[in-house]
Amino acid sequence: VNATGIGLDGEPPRLAAVELVRVRLPLRRVLRSGHGEESVRELVLVRAVDDDGNEGWGECSALEAATYTGEYTEGAWVVLRDVLVPALLARRDLVVRGHPFAKSAIVGAVTDLAWRRDPVREVLVAATDGAGRPWTAVLGIHESIDDLLTVAADAIDRGASALKLKVAVGHDLEPLRALVDAMAATPIAVDANQGYDGEEDRVVALGELLASTDAGRSRDERSHARAYVEQPLAADDLLGHAALAARLAVPIALDESIRAVGDADAAWALGSARLVNVKPARLEGSAWTGAGRTPSVLVSGNGPGRFLGGMLESGVGRAAALTTRLVDATAPTDLGPSSWYFEDDITDPIELGQDGRMRPPAGDGLVPAPRAERLAEAVVDRLLIRP
Ligand SMILES: [Mg+2]
Repeated sequence: VNATGIGLDGEPPRLAAVELVRVRLPLRRVLRSGHGEESVRELVLVRAVDDDGNEGWGECSALEAATYTGEYTEGAWVVLRDVLVPALLARRDLVVRGHPFAKSAIVGAVTDLAWRRDPVREVLVAATDGAGRPWTAVLGIHESIDDLLTVAADAIDRGASALKLKVAVGHDLEPLRALVDAMAATPIAVDANQGYDGEEDRVVALGELLASTDAGRSRDERSHARAYVEQPLAADDLLGHAALAARLAVPIALDESIRAVGDADAAWALGSARLVNVKPARLEGSAWTGAGRTPSVLVSGNGPGRFLGGMLESGVGRAAALTTRLVDATAPTDLGPSSWYFEDDITDPIELGQDGRMRPPAGDGLVPAPRAERLAEAVVDRLLIRP
């Protein structure tokens, strides 16, 4: 049996059933970025059940609309229901291109189930939870500078050690300047979400502003590269990013360009980026299993610098992402505490440590299971599929 079409490493487990659970979780505040607005997180959770009644949970972290990548919640629900889950339950060969968020949910659920009985978890968690990851709070586009500075101050109060501002043409230099002036001691980056095709000069100006915040830092601090421009140009424009990188005073980080395994290798070889935003939810589960074609520069450690990105995950996806082996255990993460995103997360909240660092939550498995009462409130659809 070859299950690599799903992203699994080796034989799929024998399962009694898989349940798809679609939930809606209101966000504490709207996150506006260059590609759209998120005010409610609609996610598909995957619950894998074995013959003994053991459960494993995974999360499909695609956004509700296809604005960030081509994948979206409704499409993921359909491909999980009609293609991926039936193949998993039948333990049969499958070729499916794309749908990395949906595949990741399956690999997450199967991995969670396996780790509840397997000591491999101890090894991986020990490797990822020691020093912890400093939190970079992501700030949306705000109409008012005062509102932006209020949210930035709240993030610092809650333990963020760096800030990343979402920017779009016309919502960039002025708020960034205000943020840099107000937060002189804090490393600042920007995320352009592909919005600057034809506006390269503007990106260069943003880079100069960011470089001024980095100038006073030690070499060691700068090696964490927390002043950067993320994804200024279109996802497929690796050559454009390489040309722009040569003009920029700070590194380029690529996010949407890393659409599939191999993209990180190409970006590194072309000089398109010195940093990569690694989002385990988008890497078909290779973050946990080592299966499939993991981008080699990510594994070798000799490629671009890496930080751990987020998709506004619930506690299920957040815990899974924090347990990845593809990003150094002390590298910064955009994954903040549950309380930054939700009044009431679906799992027990995952919060910053006293030292301001994010770690995988304690407990068995890859992720904590959702709390039954909270799940009941949040569910909008559920479907139990048997072999
Ligand atoms: Mg991004």
